[in-house]
Amino acid sequence: MESTAYPRGGEFLLQATEPEAVFTPEQFTEEHRLIRKTALDFVEKEVLPQNEAIEAQDFDVVVRLLKQAGELGLLAHSVPEQYGGLGLDKVSKAIVGEAVGMTGSYGVAHSNHTCIATLPITYFATPEVKRRVLPKMASGEFLGAYCLTEPAAGSDALNAKTTARLNDAGTHYLLNGTKQFITNAAFADTFIVYAKVDGERFTAFLVERNFPGVSLGPEENKMGIKGSSTRQVYFEDCPVPVENVIGEVGRGHAVALGVLNLGRFNLGSGNIGGAKRALQVAARYALERRQFGRAIAEFPATQEKLASMAARIYTGESLQYRTAALLEAALGPLYEEPGLRETEARLREHAIECAVCKVFGSETLWSVADEAVQIHGGYGYIKEYHVEQMLRDARIQRIFEGTNEINRLLIPTHFLRRISKEPEALARLSAAVDALGRPLDVEDGPLRRERTVVEALRRLFLAGSALVADRFSGRLDDEQELAMHLADLAIPLYAAESAVLRAVRAHLAGEDAARRERLTVLAGICADDAIAAGQRAALAVLAAVGDHRGVREQALDALRDLARLYDPQAIAHRRQAARWVMEAGGYPL
Ligand SMILES: Cc1cc2nc3c(=O)[nH]c(=O)nc-3n(C[C@H](O)[C@H](O)[C@H](O)COP(=O)(O)OP(=O)(O)OC[C@H]3O[C@@H](n4cnc5c(N)ncnc54)[C@H](O)[C@@H]3O)c2cc1C
Repeated sequence: MESTAYPRGGEFLLQATEPEAVFTPEQFTEEHRLIRKTALDFVEKEVLPQNEAIEAQDFDVVVRLLKQAGELGLLAHSVPEQYGGLGLDKVSKAIVGEAVGMTGSYGVAHSNHTCIATLPITYFATPEVKRRVLPKMASGEFLGAYCLTEPAAGSDALNAKTTARLNDAGTHYLLNGTKQFITNAAFADTFIVYAKVDGERFTAFLVERNFPGVSLGPEENKMGIKGSSTRQVYFEDCPVPVENVIGEVGRGHAVALGVLNLGRFNLGSGNIGGAKRALQVAARYALERRQFGRAIAEFPATQEKLASMAARIYTGESLQYRTAALLEAALGPLYEEPGLRETEARLREHAIECAVCKVFGSETLWSVADEAVQIHGGYGYIKEYHVEQMLRDARIQRIFEGTNEINRLLIPTHFLRRISKEPEALARLSAAVDALGRPLDVEDGPLRRERTVVEALRRLFLAGSALVADRFSGRLDDEQELAMHLADLAIPLYAAESAVLRAVRAHLAGEDAARRERLTVLAGICADDAIAAGQRAALAVLAAVGDHRGVREQALDALRDLARLYDPQAIAHRRQAARWVMEAGGYPL
């Protein structure tokens, strides 16, 4: 990846990003293309043909596939070279995550291993532990699990009851407790376990399967992702050597939440992969199935669905790769080991963008899988056609790695906390309130309408945040509805900006005309979707703040101006996008 000055975390909420500071799939290097081909071949030829066995919970098949992925280097992207990995960038991580996301269950097992089960070691373990364990994680000799959730500590994850007590010799911590819903539990060799030292200091530990006192509950009987193992894990006086503390005693929250940011980003990539596959299955079916003497794909109502599915996927893809480059810039190359505190700060930097990836990705997968079922009509409800499995597999994505409510709440909370001591940022919030209803001054150039939509959404988000913070004196914890609505302004803002800047960048870089046209049309559809989503959220905020600071009329003008930006050629553009989907038999880029 070329080196560019990327903005800091959450900056997109405050000001526009230059197109050059947005990484897009059009800039993939040869190395990126190669790993994409390896991952897609593996998924097509090895994983998808085993779907039946995986669904039947034949974990031997899942484990064999994971080991095969290890041989191909698909488990090694996020392990530094000096510890037996490939030390690749976050774009590569996103590429692999997207590919395995096409498989549902298998993808959950794979990404759980490469991401939240491995990264605490990559970023926080001692060099000795890294040398001992990481080469095995990279090759698939060891498979990993991440144990944060407990029966009484779900969203409130830091409220763990699992304890760790140092033995008298000072050599081992004794772990006691129960972890809930642990992915990969049935076959994991390593468990990243969070426990409170002396019932107080939240700490991460590396526990190995063969340590005494580790046992498993039965498999949970789940709605979907059946091929990923989910069990309780019990620890009973389990002795863990002191050198297996991950990070520092009392700093487990920074490990758990820092790594979860990357987990949320990774989940978004997988979801976009899953959505691409659902669109492919739906498009092919729509072309084959005939009713009223025509393929159902010829009906404009079907075409509108195909176009919306493709535009959401395009948007998700754009925001994922944009975020990948932000994370790479913030975290630095994997071989760099900047020290524990600095690593914690770097993992926190893009918490807002990672939350957007999680929410947008999981809701995209859900809506695309749902439309895929609808396009199949009654057959969509029948197992043989596989789209019902996609829908069931998709549902969990809105729940784990922080529910979408928790992720939404995080967005304005982090933002307002971050800017609370930054006079320049606070001045921008005030200026946005004063500017409500005034015309937006957006430079001429490609996608001007769409760029104006993005600026309008940013102004609404900033003004809304200022009014909410002012009206409720910063008591956002008690006004969760408003925090959720502000998130519902921030999410379409990041989504639309990513989609639009990708197309603008293609224009500036002189991409070939056919691709430019596709990016432009898809970005236009995304801008329209963002208008609808932004208006809804802004109205809810406005209703709650009333005429605070006397700007109600100006705010309503701003909403009317936003509506005026809706594409007058929307139907023609959606039909065009649908034709591309039909020609490609799926996602058209
Ligand atoms: C298949 C599966 C695999 C999983 N894999 C793992 C794993 O590998 N490792 C791991 O550690 N965990 C794992 N989990 C756990 C998962 O991350 C949790 O289920 C999730 O974080 C939610 O916790 P909970 O289920 O206890 O729900 P709760 O926290 O009880 O939430 C219930 C509802 O209340 C809402 N809610 C909770 N708190 C608030 C709040 N403050 N404000 C507003 N709304 C709130 C939630 O959004 C949700 O809608 C897995 C779960 C499943 C089902």
